[in-house]
Amino acid sequence: MLEERLRVPQIASGDLLRAAVRNGTDLGRQAKQFMDRGALVPDELVLGMIDERLGQPDAREGFILDGFPRTVPQAEALDRKLSARGIAIDRVVAVNVPDAEIIQRISGRRTCRGCGAMFHVVFDPPREANTCSKCGAELYQRDDDAEKTVRARLEVYAQSTAPLIAYYSARQLLKEIDGTGSPKSIEQRILDALGLN
Ligand SMILES: [Zn+2]
Repeated sequence: MLEERLRVPQIASGDLLRAAVRNGTDLGRQAKQFMDRGALVPDELVLGMIDERLGQPDAREGFILDGFPRTVPQAEALDRKLSARGIAIDRVVAVNVPDAEIIQRISGRRTCRGCGAMFHVVFDPPREANTCSKCGAELYQRDDDAEKTVRARLEVYAQSTAPLIAYYSARQLLKEIDGTGSPKSIEQRILDALGLN
């Protein structure tokens, strides 16, 4: 929604990582070595992919970062990279949702093995169970969407990511919004928070 409204690309670190691995780019091959042994991909590699992406023409007028940074050291490293490009983050939106609702939303997600389309068993079910309504391929639950993984991710969030609230708040960039309710009403709150109305 924001991509369309602002006409700037959404840059999701997870998508970049998966695409780099799939396409066998230099950074992708390095990242795969960590992923294959179940280790976290080092910040430097993820940051390198984001930096590369920011160099593409469609990001020249701005961009929306999604899924990065997740820790204060990542935010600091990102700030350094951006300032080397003569740019800076100008807004940060924290979307607040209770844990129970996050678990319900994420553990119900299903992803298409063929085209990558996403569905939700409750909120956006495919026409036929476990089958992509767009391309007919099989749907699966990503490992990181399984309930026990979501609970573990929430703990990591509380520990490592929540400190970003203070980090961006101190820099007067942060807006917090209520992330419950319909996608349309959440979009409206984000636009209000960004002063885009
Ligand atoms: Zn599909």
